[in-house]
Amino acid sequence: MAVARSLRRTSPITFVLASLLAIGFLVFLLSPSPSESTSSSARQRQEDAAENPLSPPTKPFKKATSLRKDGRVAPPPVEHYALNKLTSTSNPIANDERVLILTPLARFYQEYWDNLAKLNYPHELISLGFITPKTREGDAATAALQSAIAATQSGPIDNRFASVTILRQDFDPPIVSQNEKERHKISNQKVRRESMSRARNSLLFTTLGPSTSWVLWLDADIVETPSTLIQDLARHDRPILVPNCYQRFYDPNSKKMSVRPYDFNSWQDSETSLELASKMDPDEILLEGYEEMPTFRTLMAHLNEPSGDPDTIMELDGVGGTALMVKAEVHRHGAMFPAFAFYHLVETEGFAKMARRLGYFCWGLPNYLVYHYNE
Ligand code: GDP
Ligand code: MN
Repeated sequence: MAVARSLRRTSPITFVLASLLAIGFLVFLLSPSPSESTSSSARQRQEDAAENPLSPPTKPFKKATSLRKDGRVAPPPVEHYALNKLTSTSNPIANDERVLILTPLARFYQEYWDNLAKLNYPHELISLGFITPKTREGDAATAALQSAIAATQSGPIDNRFASVTILRQDFDPPIVSQNEKERHKISNQKVRRESMSRARNSLLFTTLGPSTSWVLWLDADIVETPSTLIQDLARHDRPILVPNCYQRFYDPNSKKMSVRPYDFNSWQDSETSLELASKMDPDEILLEGYEEMPTFRTLMAHLNEPSGDPDTIMELDGVGGTALMVKAEVHRHGAMFPAFAFYHLVETEGFAKMARRLGYFCWGLPNYLVYHYNE
């Protein structure tokens, strides 16, 4: 491992290697015991496993034990991946398409995990990736996440996910408070969203493997989605597709539970927003949902019709990332989350712009709802 040794002081690479080893260890710990592997499902999973801990973590890693004649561990095998055979289609189950669910996670909500565990896409085709901040709160979230993973991955085999990766962020978050008011202050937005971009990019570039067909971004505070979320989104066969993110709340007027829009980052540009952007300094960004900065964009959040057709689809210029389905090729071809002003946009909205420049259109489902936790 001369390469690894010479790179030991380069922190991002050390960090990635350490994370990969940690995943390998976790997958090994949580992989089925030999007695269980007699079932055909378990056997298939064993055969499906990657042979080397440095293999992309979209496949579970099988601990290599093969020894050479001289008693040393055999070198890792060469794996061939035919990317031209990799599909992302409207019928992902029939085509065995692997989905990578990515979650930046600062707080752990059991409701998020329960909802994730209820997704009825075959779990053996789902890999999970998380990135948690290196703060006291991030430590607590990581610990809670690990117990949830341990419970699911040692439970019934069909509930287990193909692989799980947890990354610890290698940079400090710009604001420590996770308090909603503090998070949403306009003065905190640029640094906060640039930092979120770095977290998302680190997570994406560390976990996207050659067999990933779809990437589903799902925030850690999305606590309710249809269990058919993956199939429902894939069915539209769009490069980038975002459902409408709402929130349940108690309405004191009607004295009943009700719903309201939560995420305002899915929008169509307006003349005003384009005009505003054209007059900005290169490093300035346009934000959505702030009275101080009216953009007159068309917000998908306001276009929900409660009894409307859930298949209604609209084109978008900006997308939010609370739940966001992306064909893996969009990321693979280079669309990421700009941690800098990109056409005066950052993070998920900047991603939409970057994807557009690569030739991919963004779409939204105003009548298909997912729900954000209510603090
Ligand atoms: P909001 O709903 O737009 O206010 O954004 P959130 O604060 O909920 O952040 C979006 C997602 O990123 C959630 O899943 C958070 O748990 C997570 N998150 C927030 N801050 C950080 C951070 O500093 N690092 C990481 N890794 N995740 C974070
Ligand atoms: Mn949130």
